[in-house]
Amino acid sequence: MKLYNTLSGKKEDFAPADGPVKMYVCGVTPYDRSHLGHAMSYIIFDALRRYLEYRGHEVRHVQNYTDIDDRIIARANQLGIPPQELAEQLIAEYAAEMEALNVLPAHVYPRATEEIPTMIDMISTLIDKGYAYEAERDVYFRVSAKKDYGKLSGRSLEATEAGARCGVGREVEPGENKEHPGDFALWKAAKPGEPSWPSPWGPGRPGWHIECSAMSVKYLGETLDIHGGGVDLVFPHHENEIAQSEAYTGREPFVRFWLHNGWLYLDEEKMSKSLGNIIPISEGLEKYGADGCRLFVLNSHYRSPLTYSEEGLEAGKRAAERLRLAACLPGAGEGPPLDPEAFRRRFIEAMDDDLNTAQALAALFDLAREINRARDEGWPVEEGQAALRELAGVLGLTLAEEEVGLAARPFIDLLVELRDELREAKLYQLSDKVRSRLAELGVALEDTSEGTRWRRRG
Ligand SMILES: [Zn+2]
Repeated sequence: MKLYNTLSGKKEDFAPADGPVKMYVCGVTPYDRSHLGHAMSYIIFDALRRYLEYRGHEVRHVQNYTDIDDRIIARANQLGIPPQELAEQLIAEYAAEMEALNVLPAHVYPRATEEIPTMIDMISTLIDKGYAYEAERDVYFRVSAKKDYGKLSGRSLEATEAGARCGVGREVEPGENKEHPGDFALWKAAKPGEPSWPSPWGPGRPGWHIECSAMSVKYLGETLDIHGGGVDLVFPHHENEIAQSEAYTGREPFVRFWLHNGWLYLDEEKMSKSLGNIIPISEGLEKYGADGCRLFVLNSHYRSPLTYSEEGLEAGKRAAERLRLAACLPGAGEGPPLDPEAFRRRFIEAMDDDLNTAQALAALFDLAREINRARDEGWPVEEGQAALRELAGVLGLTLAEEEVGLAARPFIDLLVELRDELREAKLYQLSDKVRSRLAELGVALEDTSEGTRWRRRG
């Protein structure tokens, strides 16, 4: 498989260095509801992970939550709630939305606030090695000490200097006491009223960049196979991650393959929370379903920018329905069996070429057409349908009928929980009533050794 590596600017043959594929994806900063721009990135890296697993790799996927940040503090203050409470709510919302989008959960979701000692250790080592310095209770990374600083983004130190003056970067950098304008904060001294943690440099909190370096090294080791994120993270976030991690471990490269997805634009403008033009994930799910949203995203190449449009999402929804019908309507009778092998080969070839999901989908739609044609002829279609389901699953498409609306999920969960309690209390008449009324509403319950699961029937 070839993947485009931002570090080399080329497509390169991908294989893990050893053992499982170590994949780190930058997670969300929970200060507001997640929008389709976030969903796009996580759908893409989910398709990559599913495909690697399909090709026989084991993948270890780590994704952080930046649960402390200037914007979380500002938003929580606006709402009059503690920052941790806001972060907690939005993390739960994000996790439910990812589940509804059929995005596989990461194996570890470290949170910044739970990894402070790891970050303090890393910062202390960077100071000892001369890569960082303390200034008035803040700690900065000394970019001039890392000779190859700028190798990911292709920015020289001079350009960095100009950028820092213009305020490039998403967090406000404290900055009066820096040696060089490109130096960035590893530790920020506490301001009054802000959450803070004790450190050798006084109470404060970590900078954003150090978090990802500390968590990736802790949970995946000193060298990652794949590091993913949106293209907006190349500079300064990922550039700074490289500088910190390589300075800390003394090993290069920190990441073997840097993968970046393009932006989602809305009316020619980047869809970002700060611009306020947000389509929340929940709204996308309600209107277009998980498969519709996924098809909208995966129908373009992940490195290309994607423009949000209702027509595009509608088209995704219709395409999902076409695939679903092709996969489930029964064929009949005798006839030449449909051989899906050529479609499977095309799918794999496309995905092997830097995750060309648009081409892979073209193979799926051709297969769906072939299935429909065979059905019209009265020929068997089972083998073709099995292949269609298999390959659609690699892209995370469920091909399930209209999913239960996201809004209904917590209520169904609640009823299932109540029913479990009724059964524990041996109130079987009542628990059976819950089951049969849910069944009437089209929700089937299944009791397993791990508890009760529910699914929409149909
Ligand atoms: Zn990150």
